[in-house]
Amino acid sequence: MKKNTLSDRLLAYYDAHARILPFRVHPVPYHIWISEIMLQQTRMDTVLPYFERFIKKLPSVADLALVDDEVLMKLWEGLGYYSRARNLKRAAQAMMERNHGVLPQTARELEKLPGIGPYTAGAIASIAFGEPVPAIDGNVIRVFSRLYAYDGPTHNVKGKAHLQQLVAQVMPKDRPGDFNQAIMDLGSAICLPNGAPRCEVCPLKTDCLAVQKGNPLDYPVLAPKKQRRIEEWTVLLLLGHDEEGNEAIILETRPPKGLLAGLNQFPMLLGHCTEKQLRDWLKDQGLVATHACPLPPSRHQFSHVEWRMQGYLVVLSSQGTPLEGRSLLTKTQWRTVALPTAFRAYRSALDARWGF
Ligand code: SF4
Repeated sequence: MKKNTLSDRLLAYYDAHARILPFRVHPVPYHIWISEIMLQQTRMDTVLPYFERFIKKLPSVADLALVDDEVLMKLWEGLGYYSRARNLKRAAQAMMERNHGVLPQTARELEKLPGIGPYTAGAIASIAFGEPVPAIDGNVIRVFSRLYAYDGPTHNVKGKAHLQQLVAQVMPKDRPGDFNQAIMDLGSAICLPNGAPRCEVCPLKTDCLAVQKGNPLDYPVLAPKKQRRIEEWTVLLLLGHDEEGNEAIILETRPPKGLLAGLNQFPMLLGHCTEKQLRDWLKDQGLVATHACPLPPSRHQFSHVEWRMQGYLVVLSSQGTPLEGRSLLTKTQWRTVALPTAFRAYRSALDARWGF
């Protein structure tokens, strides 16, 4: 392995082909932090419009620390993994309290903030502050496992520590941020996660042991995938009426912990209910329906669970009082309310009914 020149080749590739991104053109630490959090679990193409909107609305740590939760959730709506947004706000509040709204400059200090793990801390510290620390994510694991034909485990602490050591050996002290970003770019454009790597155009092909062995696709060695748990739900679009007698939709708030914690949802029943079970439930709740019609089924995959949903649109003649733990939203309120992407199909069904 030609350790002295690998980083030169990688940086030359980066200088020639780096993607032009708003947080690279103006590498403000706050922007880098927000972009790195958004990029956890989410593709760059999806993130870019969200990033622009977020920075426009919340241009500083101080703005983020003070933002209303509903506004924050609306800015994040569709990105998923909403705890990321809540942690951003908590971290901003911690920075305001401890450090006048300034980001810590080392990976070690960054990791003490909510929502910042070793990868994100390494990425921010190296890109924003030039600290020579690796940022080990899926791209780095793939590229370096192939470069070194490393066939040990990559999903546990020991495997990651080994890869971290390999990266640290070749990371240049003067451009650690560019080096980390170069690996990210190489991993997304050339040493691809799905399908065959494009070794013929790779700037590191002369360094790559996997290519010499003729088996790049054998690396990295991944943990066996866990099957997602399947959950069946019945989603209820309960249409009540506001004080003027106009149609309004009933929403509720999810529990404060766990999946989609604290976010809005349509009332949901575990399992796929029959119409009789639905009638019994409505009666139990003190709700009187004039009619109910089934809605098309929908699915949503989270990292560890898949929801298989069926839905009903239920028009109520009496919505009971009070609406315990629930809120009644008028058409105007509905248009601006944040709702997780998991409910996209049912949101569209209501939009269609209300002509949006
Ligand atoms: S030569 Fe091929 S396998 Fe090796 S790092 Fe480059 S793209 Fe990946």
